[in-house]
Amino acid sequence: MKNVLVTVGAYQSLFSCFQAVVDEGDQVIIIEPFFDCYEPMVKMAGGTPVFVPLRLKAAESGKLISSKDWKLDPAELEAKFTPRTKAIVLNSPNNPLGKVFSREELQLIADLCVKHDVLCFSDEVYEWLVYDGNQHVRIASLPGMWERTLTIGSAGKTFSATGWKVGWTLGPDHLLRHLRTVHQNSLYHCPTAAQEAVALGLEKELECLGKPDSYFVQLPRDLQQKRDFLIQNLIAAGMKPIVPEGTYFLMADLSGFKIDLPEQGDAEEPYDSRFVEWMIKNKGLAAIPVSAFYSAEQKKNFDHFIRFCFAKEDSTLKAASAILQEWSQQKPSL
Ligand code: PMP
Repeated sequence: MKNVLVTVGAYQSLFSCFQAVVDEGDQVIIIEPFFDCYEPMVKMAGGTPVFVPLRLKAAESGKLISSKDWKLDPAELEAKFTPRTKAIVLNSPNNPLGKVFSREELQLIADLCVKHDVLCFSDEVYEWLVYDGNQHVRIASLPGMWERTLTIGSAGKTFSATGWKVGWTLGPDHLLRHLRTVHQNSLYHCPTAAQEAVALGLEKELECLGKPDSYFVQLPRDLQQKRDFLIQNLIAAGMKPIVPEGTYFLMADLSGFKIDLPEQGDAEEPYDSRFVEWMIKNKGLAAIPVSAFYSAEQKKNFDHFIRFCFAKEDSTLKAASAILQEWSQQKPSL
């Protein structure tokens, strides 16, 4: 098939996109926070990453902050487009924030891509993990975008089989042909058995698409319950979770959640990294520092968030809940 390239995980799809398309001196716009491999992959291809942040716009008072409240500033985004811009990387639903870009937000990006003749690498690995009736829209489906978009997917996320490393890129042949060259010459062997299993899974899913027994219907329903359980427990412990519209991650704001971290290690290390290290060692609870999803210039501005994963067995989530409860009882300020 000329419009699909099957790869060793979405990771290798991304690698092939950057290697095949980005040349020395090209600029690539990356929306922050971002899945961390985009930046080194742009640089390995000889390009320059240009960052543009999602900014938190005030939420309705009394309501929990949602990933929806983090928005691109249209003027700020447009200012990043230059004659050297080759591509923009979009990740919706976004890791680590869980933001699902609305059709209007995608239209804004699409209009700029068309206006400035820029390509879009659209990382949609969490396409099926969308909650609260939100809808995932493919940017490639917007007018003028198919011929300039490479859409990336992952069986690891689609079928909850992290580690299987089966991914794919969809796009027009005039772009995909260059990815095929990179792919063919950087890999000799593919996980054929895993590809076969994924193909069977997709065939089965196609038969029941949208029906109650579809995995793609059941999975987000189950995960939404897990998300809500973790959110309640984080609130009870005094952290401020940001409700994600998609993915199986959520960010929690630590400001106001004061603990006395021992001053040790590298003084340059962001607060969230030190916090997480301390939490793992002292509480047995693991999270990822969100500053890892920001460029060097922005890390210090976003070092009071950590990312939790809620795609866990209920027993694991209950164990986390017990840890958080015990922790909150020890904190006199709560
Ligand atoms: N893109 C994003 C946004 C991801 O979060 C991940 C995995 N964490 C990948 C791509 C890579 O997926 P795969 O395991 O299929 O290589």
